[in-house]
Amino acid sequence: MAESQVEINQTKLSIIQGDITRQATDAIVNAANSSLMGGGGVDGAIHRAGGPAILEECKQIVARQGRLPTGQAVITTGGNLKAKHVIHTVGPIWHGGGKGEAELLKSAYQNSLKIAAENHLASVSFPSISTGAYGYPVEKAARVALEAVISFLRENVTSIKEVVFVLFDSRTFEVYSAALQELAGEKK
Ligand code: ADP
Repeated sequence: MAESQVEINQTKLSIIQGDITRQATDAIVNAANSSLMGGGGVDGAIHRAGGPAILEECKQIVARQGRLPTGQAVITTGGNLKAKHVIHTVGPIWHGGGKGEAELLKSAYQNSLKIAAENHLASVSFPSISTGAYGYPVEKAARVALEAVISFLRENVTSIKEVVFVLFDSRTFEVYSAALQELAGEKK
């Protein structure tokens, strides 16, 4: 049976299967693209469920600072969502693994957590960034994602008390569960 919950530095890290747009954490993270203008997959689902206030704020951010580089993150309102905020980050497109993809994916997770901490948030939900349209292999992405979150929580004492990975399909859920069990077993 896969371990689906661990505790790091008094922060609970858990993995569930579900729809991230229904999460009531302080923030949900969006796997956006650099334009911040919405798109398919989880991005489209978040904008549909959250309403136009999210896109409005995204437009203001782009007008101010331009397109969002891969690995960076910004925060907006959650609009009509249960979550008060959406943290938008851009994961890397998979090009075979030799183009810095792992480092960029790690940055996407850690910069999202950094923004959550800067805004004094207590709970954050993540989808599986980059493993849909962006083609990052799920087994590799799961390990990078979990290591990024675990190392951030070990190295930073913040307001964040709970991090949840909300995986949409059962295969992705199973892969993340197995990866968490492996990492927990390594006791790094
Ligand atoms: P990317 O472009 O970063 O690959 P996608 O949205 O295409 O982003 O896919 C990322 C992951 O999000 C995929 O595993 C996809 O199944 C998942 N996903 C899609 N809709 C939702 C949702 N409502 N809640 C959580 N995860 C979702």
